[in-house]
Amino acid sequence: MSLAPYAMDVARSQGRRHAEPAHPYRDDYHRDRDRIIHSRAFRRLEAKTQVFTRRFSDHFRNRLTHTLEVAQIARTIARALGLNEELCEALALVHDIGHPPFGHAGERKLDALMGAHGDVFDHNLHALRMVESFEQRYAAFPGLNLTFEVREGIVKHSRDYRPDAHPELAEYRLGERPPLEAQLIDLADEIAYNTADLDDGYEAKLLRPEMMRAEVPVFRGLLDQAVSRYPQAAEKLQFNEALKSLIDRLTSDLIEHTRSQLTANHVASLEAVRACPRRLVAFSPAVAEEKRVLQEFLNRRLYQHPQITEERERAVKMLEELFAFFVQQPERLPRAYAAQAKTQPAHRVACDYLAGMTDTYVFRVHRDLLGDLASQPASRLR
Ligand code: MG
Repeated sequence: MSLAPYAMDVARSQGRRHAEPAHPYRDDYHRDRDRIIHSRAFRRLEAKTQVFTRRFSDHFRNRLTHTLEVAQIARTIARALGLNEELCEALALVHDIGHPPFGHAGERKLDALMGAHGDVFDHNLHALRMVESFEQRYAAFPGLNLTFEVREGIVKHSRDYRPDAHPELAEYRLGERPPLEAQLIDLADEIAYNTADLDDGYEAKLLRPEMMRAEVPVFRGLLDQAVSRYPQAAEKLQFNEALKSLIDRLTSDLIEHTRSQLTANHVASLEAVRACPRRLVAFSPAVAEEKRVLQEFLNRRLYQHPQITEERERAVKMLEELFAFFVQQPERLPRAYAAQAKTQPAHRVACDYLAGMTDTYVFRVHRDLLGDLASQPASRLR
């Protein structure tokens, strides 16, 4: 399929940090996607929490299955807009790779712990360090040696960094917007998790259709349509139909509104995308409002549900205890990290080690190092 004039053409890539010969039948973004899939960090997504831990059920999303859903939605949007699907897929598959264990709660906790040392934890920047140096797979270079555009997309996937605040990121064109392929990832992510969390919340019996009907007007409309179309169907299947329509509504709106933004701003080149003062991939104001109401509902009814918060608090407590343990005794870190701690601040090395862990590995290390403190949650959660 031919690319739109504002798409990121692989022929115009700024290339890799370490030059490599071209591959006979895979372009550079294909190869980046393949490298991401073959990385250890990608495999670890399987044992990281999205919202629900494995204690609830094996049917719920984890970060790996969530990532695959984001990739599927992102490719659909990319194709409809004439964007580079391979670049988009690579960016979607890598988008959560820097997330620490226990989802956003784990991220907030690590950031707070680092804050006490005058430092920060940022999952985008952590992801960049993972693909640049932590992944050791190839003899010819450190990290995955990804193309500039994939690294830029990692840095900019969810926010714009101020050039003056981040001189170390100067090469990533911080004063410019990223290509549209990178701009759409964060919104494809939102479509994926908002709808998936409704689904998992329903399966967990924490969210009921009556609740959604009463508090999420867009869902009420879609559920009413599903019920009138399939009046004899089981409740779960009516719910599924409404959920399917919701994914389609959000995705179609994002495509249509972005298209109208491109037209309204006379965007006809990648340069125009980069020079635009704001991001062009966006939901329409009406659908953005529907999405806001939905997110507010999920926050109130699901993410703050005692069954979710109790488990989350126990889990982040373990992170906190392990962080304190390793900062005080960096020699107890695994050998490679202990060696790093001789030349770098212990809090930074401890944070890197903890951030790379899966949920299950946190439980194991906590139990091994801090004993009984962890035995109850570990046996219940694993
Ligand atoms: Mg995500």
